[in-house]
Amino acid sequence: MNQDLLTICYLIGSITFIIGLKMLSNPASARKGNLLAAAGMTIAILGTIFLYQDVETGYLNNYAWIFGGLVIGAIIGTLAAKKVKMTAMPEMVSLFNGMGGACAALISIVEFNHLSKELISNPNPLFIPHEQPTVFIIVVGLIIGSVSFAGSMIAWGKLNGKVKDFSFKGQNILNLLVLALAILSAVYLVMNPLQHNLLYVILVLSLIYGIFFVMPIGGADMPVVISLLNSFTGVAAACGGFLYNNKVMLTGGILVGAAGTLLTILMCKAMNRSLKNVLIGSFGGNAKTSSTGPVSQGLYKEISLSDTAMIMSYASKVMIVPGYGLAVAQAQHACHELEKILTEKGVEVKYAIHPVAGRMPGHMNVLLAEADVSYDNLLEMEKANDEFPTTDVVFILGANDVVNPAAKNDPTSPIYGMPILDVELAKTIVVNKRSMKPGYAGIENELFFKPKTSMLFGDAKKVLQDLCAEIKSV
Ligand code: NDP
Repeated sequence: MNQDLLTICYLIGSITFIIGLKMLSNPASARKGNLLAAAGMTIAILGTIFLYQDVETGYLNNYAWIFGGLVIGAIIGTLAAKKVKMTAMPEMVSLFNGMGGACAALISIVEFNHLSKELISNPNPLFIPHEQPTVFIIVVGLIIGSVSFAGSMIAWGKLNGKVKDFSFKGQNILNLLVLALAILSAVYLVMNPLQHNLLYVILVLSLIYGIFFVMPIGGADMPVVISLLNSFTGVAAACGGFLYNNKVMLTGGILVGAAGTLLTILMCKAMNRSLKNVLIGSFGGNAKTSSTGPVSQGLYKEISLSDTAMIMSYASKVMIVPGYGLAVAQAQHACHELEKILTEKGVEVKYAIHPVAGRMPGHMNVLLAEADVSYDNLLEMEKANDEFPTTDVVFILGANDVVNPAAKNDPTSPIYGMPILDVELAKTIVVNKRSMKPGYAGIENELFFKPKTSMLFGDAKKVLQDLCAEIKSV
């Protein structure tokens, strides 16, 4: 009876994961989708704790350990999620993903130790071949989980600036050698499961590979790497599902693995770069630190607040291009205020959203949704590019790389080939940022020196607040 109830709990868990994931694809339903999937996960966890029955040992009875861990984890997770700034979200995702990888690796170690004891104590020669598929799942989970853990920790360190890019000649070859050694050791262990110390050799090799794999990848590509590592963690968790014959763990792992893979492909597509180029291209790494000096592209012109207020008030259509700087300044509410004031004056206001504006997929959508900006006013890149020719004023707020024409016309640029917002097609361009410093890719932006571009320097929030006051008085 209890086992049937448990199966129903797992079924509810699996269904809520799928529906929740679907709801995440729309900002209007995303919050509810997240809650729904979390509720399903809670049911699956509680079901396992209270209803699962082992053939030999019966019900779980180590409740103090289980709830001790649950409470500590829940407190840390809640505090971290409440405290995290929107701009530090990729870091947190990376850290949490690393924890998932570590869990999968620990499951493999614990289960191998159980199995090892059984293998040693069982004199039946047929027992070893019978358990080899289990050893296979264990080592696959161990390798993928450890790579994901070590890689995510390095990605986390890179995103918060504590770990610098590091590469040397022949590193890719060394990486492949370490991985090959880990795989060969794993194959040997599957053939000879009694060589149990080899498990720790595989663990160490996989951790080294995880570190070396992420170390040389450029800082700007970290979100892509995190998404890839996320898919690894999903596969490692699915291995746990196989191991325990636990269907909800298997479904969850496969969903994470598939979603992470799809997101990785989508992000690469948005930058028009192959995954191979991301993994060995070192984009935004060294370039970032080497070119933050003065810009040498000639003269740019500045515009005053009152002139900006004037041209916007008399425009028919204004397109706002939000970027990372808007998130840093936390200027989303002030931005929505500007939209409302201009709309009251009869100006059509829309937002042009580049798929990789900001520092994580959907960053701008989440930011603007937080300020209650209507989702109908957000235009995806292709749609926005169609509308720029009929736009009077493009107002760029803390965006840089996503409007850099070098992506189209400079084959030597590290962002060459990345699709950009064609803001130059509009009549006038006003750029708000604090200085002439480059954006994340660390490269100059010739757009700032074009005749139709004017610079409006200052912190995005302050500029927007002053601009709103100015427009009200026009
Ligand atoms: P960028 O990082 O290119 O530029 C942001 C600009 O904001 C900077 O030039 C900075 O100039 C300005 N800025 C910073 N703080 C403020 C502030 N308080 N007020 C006003 N301006 C400010 O951002 P984009 O959004 O244009 O591009 C995103 C970059 O991140 C791309 O290179 C993309 O490939 C990369 N990336 C994004 C991913 C994603 O999923 N979103 C994933 C992987 C990479 P200044 O210092 O002069 O103020």
